Amino acid sequence: MQNNSPKRIPYGRQNIKEEDILAVTETLRSDYLTQGPKIKEFEEAFAQYIGCKYAIAVSNGTAALHLAAMALGVKEGDKVITTPITFAASANCVRYCGGDVVFSDINPDTYLLDIKKLRELLEASPKGTYKGVIPVDFAGRANDLEEFRKLADEFGLWIIEDACHSPGGYFIDSEGKKQNCGNGEFADLAVFSFHPVKHIAAGEGGMITTNSKDLYDHILNLRTHGIQQNPDLKIENHGVWYYEMQEIGYNYRLTDMQAALAISQLSRAEEGIVKRIEIAMTYQKAFEGKSYIQRQSGVIDGHAYHLYVIEAKDREGLIQYLREENIFAQVHYIPVHLMPYYRQFGWKNGDMPQSESFYAQCLSLPMYPTLTEVEQKFVINKIKAFYES
Ligand SMILES: *Cc1c(COP(=O)(O)O)cnc(C)c1O
Repeated sequence: MQNNSPKRIPYGRQNIKEEDILAVTETLRSDYLTQGPKIKEFEEAFAQYIGCKYAIAVSNGTAALHLAAMALGVKEGDKVITTPITFAASANCVRYCGGDVVFSDINPDTYLLDIKKLRELLEASPKGTYKGVIPVDFAGRANDLEEFRKLADEFGLWIIEDACHSPGGYFIDSEGKKQNCGNGEFADLAVFSFHPVKHIAAGEGGMITTNSKDLYDHILNLRTHGIQQNPDLKIENHGVWYYEMQEIGYNYRLTDMQAALAISQLSRAEEGIVKRIEIAMTYQKAFEGKSYIQRQSGVIDGHAYHLYVIEAKDREGLIQYLREENIFAQVHYIPVHLMPYYRQFGWKNGDMPQSESFYAQCLSLPMYPTLTEVEQKFVINKIKAFYES
């Protein structure tokens, strides 16, 4: 199709620089391809960036969720709550462990789990019915985890923060303190992803963060088949070659090549956020007062802007129109409870009205640090042209 758009503009894209390539090739020339010195270096740099005590690098964000659920002891029949407006993996990790996923609806202003509805859900059953909750910092907007912690303590729940969208995001707590997403201050565990579309690209990659030494030690073992990583805790010792598998685990290791790329990417994470905020502000200004577009309302301080989500009238028409202009806006997300897999457990249309009406109109506009001013202007002008001409 002939058109005059600059080039294909996706909703998100990685930013690979020469220095990233150098970092990877250096590792290729070293003695370690997997699980060498770069893993530890990445874990320490990431923990410092987020402001948590411990970080464990794993093969992807889904593996991070799986190990987090395992470490918190999810087992057959355990009920765990999450939001329908997320990637399926946030819910699937519960199923991997045999648990049951219970969805709770979003707040239509923030698109995050509605804490009032969550309380209603918890109060409707005897204490102990639910084991944990997985809030998702959707689009990069931080959940108020202090609020979640209060509720979780009242009902005896653990918290896994799905921070895949929000490295560099934060919320302000009741004492006015900045609380970084994934810093382990309120959640038991947090998870991140380094898929190319996320803030920090490693090809594939994930991280679990926590302030709990016990959880940290346990997850280190689970990452490598359940083999005890602490020599002092081995039950037997047959010699220097001896390794001991004490429980069932997986091979969820990251490679040193990926860690080298991620370290290099991490050094530009902060400037990436600055750029994302700039892009968000430009959209915000461009669509000020436009009745055809609704935007996530409320404070935006601390938003990491993984996505720039709008709710658009005639979204189907708009998507089609933008595609013809080589602009690939995307829908995030199809509510997870409506996936055929989850429908088999009885979830159906109408169960989560806020999530479903959000799904009917949501659209993620191009948002990534290398989106140029010219490209963004092109996107904005095309959206205006669709509605106004
Ligand atoms: C990307 C993502 C995941 C999964 O991460 P992978 O690295 O792709 O396995 C989980 N949760 C959310 C919210 C995500 O965006």
